[in-house]
Amino acid sequence: MSSSSSHTISVKLVLLGEAAVGKSSLVLRFVSNDFQENKEPTIGAAFLTQRCKINDKTIKFEIWDTAGQERFASLAPMYYRNAQSALIVYDITKPQSFIKARHWVKELHEQASKDITIALVGNKLDLASERQITYEEGKTLAEEENLLFYETSAKTGEQVSDVFLGIGNKIPDPSLQKSQ
Ligand code: GDP
Repeated sequence: MSSSSSHTISVKLVLLGEAAVGKSSLVLRFVSNDFQENKEPTIGAAFLTQRCKINDKTIKFEIWDTAGQERFASLAPMYYRNAQSALIVYDITKPQSFIKARHWVKELHEQASKDITIALVGNKLDLASERQITYEEGKTLAEEENLLFYETSAKTGEQVSDVFLGIGNKIPDPSLQKSQ
């Protein structure tokens, strides 16, 4: 973790999850408060930053939307290494995407930094009538694996900023940490 000033904490955040679960859409909603129906898939690496104020700290999220793309799966460790936080996203209407989310949880616990903050995110809450993964299934996985848990809709914006605020809240302020 690095701090560019005493008040700004830079936080590297990686997005993981099956293709088309809405990873880029969640970022677009968070960064630009926008949504694109039938969005073109992200090609190559996408990197965005967004600042937000949480209590008395300013968090500068450095968001990497690449590692979760299937064809870059073998490169994923390059992206999540040194990440302070990760969003593992699934689509509540797609059971396969929940299986994939479990896979990412396991991989991060084995390979990522021990103090990484992970949020499990069930997206497309606006499609709740087509839901295949219950709230309880998501919540249970999150509790078992010590993850934050949210259900979101990038389309309506529901709960999207809460995900980032929740992550930001859990990130320790380096200026408050004693050197060891
Ligand atoms: P990614 O591959 O995980 O980055 O997924 P995208 O962000 O590209 O989204 C894939 C498709 O799902 C696009 O057509 C989006 O418009 C759509 N989408 C993303 N989030 C939502 C959502 O919350 N609700 C609905 N109904 N569609 C969504």
